[in-house]
Amino acid sequence: MKAVLIPGDGIGREIAESVREVSAALNTGIEWQEFAAGAEYAAESGELIAPGTLDAIEACGWALKGPTATPIGKGFRSINVQLRQRFSTYANLRPVHTLPGVPTRFDNVDLVIVRENTEDLYKGIEYMLNDEIANGVKLITRPACEKICRFAFDYARKNGRKKVTAVHKANIMKLTDGLFLRTFREVAAEYPEITADDCIIDALCMKLVQKPEQFDVLVAPNLYGDIISDLCAGLVGGLGFAPSANIGDSTRIYEAVHGSAPDIAGQDKANPSAILMAFAMMLNDLGETDKAAKLNAAILAQVEEGKVVTADIGGTAGTKEFTQAIISRL
Ligand code: NAD
Repeated sequence: MKAVLIPGDGIGREIAESVREVSAALNTGIEWQEFAAGAEYAAESGELIAPGTLDAIEACGWALKGPTATPIGKGFRSINVQLRQRFSTYANLRPVHTLPGVPTRFDNVDLVIVRENTEDLYKGIEYMLNDEIANGVKLITRPACEKICRFAFDYARKNGRKKVTAVHKANIMKLTDGLFLRTFREVAAEYPEITADDCIIDALCMKLVQKPEQFDVLVAPNLYGDIISDLCAGLVGGLGFAPSANIGDSTRIYEAVHGSAPDIAGQDKANPSAILMAFAMMLNDLGETDKAAKLNAAILAQVEEGKVVTADIGGTAGTKEFTQAIISRL
């Protein structure tokens, strides 16, 4: 089968190379169609995304994407946000669990974040009223709320999860977050076997850093989902181990949660685990559950042993050496 690979910016090329090598070692048979995208490509070509990329994603339906840099407070719109809206990948799925061998304050985190991926403040409706006043629109629609809440409950049902918690600030944003919460409750009524509750975003942040084990599946509008995903990644040892999947009806784009890490780019220092775990999510969804399990087990075993690991988790190995060590366990 064919799938699109977008290495992206910064450490993207290095970790994409790890994906190619692991894919070959696992005999996945995936024929990667590689396309450039990101700030570095834009600096060379004047285009953000190489011609043909969108058509290829449309045709294959499967893509694995490295990080792409986005200028802060000016410049072009995030490529991730553009891709998510273009392909209506309405659900962003981010599993987070404690990894043996990765030092953290908690040893029992096992959470799944389901983030609405297409609207809210990320819709990009922003304008200046005058030089002193900027306005941004928080767009929330019932169909999108219904779709994401149903996705969260279906995920819980399919994966033996017991509870889904809606994340909101409906006490203040009574219409927008109020619509999200009302829709959540309506959908929850169709899944009587799953506990449904809700938590205000600020209280949730405190509870997550105090007692993360009390949560199971969290479903959130776009902005809150974005923020708590990084918070939760921090609970289990950081961004080096946080994969994600952008899921739509006909397109799936997998990626690491982390960015292009410009401070370590091109130095063979990047930890490829997050993108490899995103690749494992993709293999799982392709029905290659044995290969996915093998890859996850190899990463976990390598990290737990702790000898040949990258600097972000206390080792001295480079990206290439760490990748080869994982491959030797497949
Ligand atoms: P970042 O995730 O790139 O880096 C934050 C810190 O984590 C840095 O110290 C970095 O060295 C470290 N780090 C990140 N990934 C790592 C890895 N795999 N191995 C080892 N260390 C790692 O976040 P940032 O610095 O805020 O963002 C840099 C750029 O990335 C920005 O332009 C931002 O817009 C972009 N970004 C892209 C995505 C994406 O494409 N999915 C996500 C987040 C940020």
